[in-house]
Amino acid sequence: MKIGCPTEIKPQEFRVGMTPDAAHEAIAHGHDVFIQTGAGAGAGYTDADYAAAGATLLETAEEIFATADMIVKVKEPQAGERKMLREGQLLFTYLHLAPDPEQTRDLLASGCTAIAYETVTDSFGGLPLLAPMSEVAGRLAPQVGAWTLQKANGGRGVLMGGVPGVPPAKVVVIGGGVVGTHAARIASGMGGDVTVLDRSLHRLKYLDDVFGRDFRTRYSTAAATAELVREADLVVGAVLVPGAAAPKLVSRAQLSEMKPGAVLVDVAIDQGGCFETSKATTHADPIYEVDGVMHYCVANMPGAVARTSTQALGNATLPFLLALADKGWKQACADDPHLLNGLNVHAGQLTYYAVGKALGIDV
Ligand code: NAD
Repeated sequence: MKIGCPTEIKPQEFRVGMTPDAAHEAIAHGHDVFIQTGAGAGAGYTDADYAAAGATLLETAEEIFATADMIVKVKEPQAGERKMLREGQLLFTYLHLAPDPEQTRDLLASGCTAIAYETVTDSFGGLPLLAPMSEVAGRLAPQVGAWTLQKANGGRGVLMGGVPGVPPAKVVVIGGGVVGTHAARIASGMGGDVTVLDRSLHRLKYLDDVFGRDFRTRYSTAAATAELVREADLVVGAVLVPGAAAPKLVSRAQLSEMKPGAVLVDVAIDQGGCFETSKATTHADPIYEVDGVMHYCVANMPGAVARTSTQALGNATLPFLLALADKGWKQACADDPHLLNGLNVHAGQLTYYAVGKALGIDV
């Protein structure tokens, strides 16, 4: 199969759909890989790295789309890219179609077959192509939180790990899923005094079994959250209610009870945020203050560490990418129901129920 990987063109997107290692593996499986020149630059990969892996470099996105049987990307295709998709072409990338009727219409009109990273499943009930980005965002949260706690950045001037004779920062992580677990691990590793809140007893049991020596767990009620947030130096918002906007768990009124210069990092901002005062920010201007409390609410946190994120995403996508290339999408999806769950669009037909329901289109 001819596999094409164009340069990402969405603003602030520095990741790339295939690493040189992924290109090398696909080529070893007998496929041809075409990479747009400069596609890997944002993630620290040069054209020479891809050439050394055996890939063919093409100058323009037009050439990539015209040549490839399968397009591998990171972000949903932008309007100009959608015009280049053609009937029978396979698209493998994040799509997030439910809130995006324009993109859905264009993909249906193109006649392509589109498999969305975010709806591929695994046998543990998880989303294996979303999880790596939650891992990255979770591990990044204490890092940006510790930075924001510094005095010059508007924070309380508290060092995460304290020093001998001085207590560490009090860290509260709301939501103990993928983001929350990774945030708690790193905050605890930095020496923070960490408590994780969750509504799932099953999740709290798991966290206690595995990390009981590193951090505490607490059942998430409004009263427990209010008590812990009042005392906190850093609060990480990491909740998810599947298919719904994030619940607001800290109100504006609660900010006045917090310590001046305390920090809220709202990782759940991509689902609307779990603090009443959260509004999405960018890497260029990530933090702001409300009632003396600092907020960090970047909606695409993994973009800050594009190289790590590219590698993490590439590790997760590679087995599926190889199955699609080796067998063709029909056989690959017939063999693997979890990959089939990724199928969102085929030959002008929407094939994913939740997207159809959200957009009022027959599936
Ligand atoms: P997850 O499903 O693994 O975990 C969510 C956890 O929240 C679950 O354990 C659930 O029980 C818990 N929860 C739900 N309601 C709660 C409540 N009221 N109190 C306490 N816990 C509650 O999800 P995840 O992968 O960890 O993602 C968390 C959020 O981070 C999502 O909104 C996701 O979209 C977002 N995210 C953002 C970025 C970013 O760049 N900002 C990156 C990755 C993920």
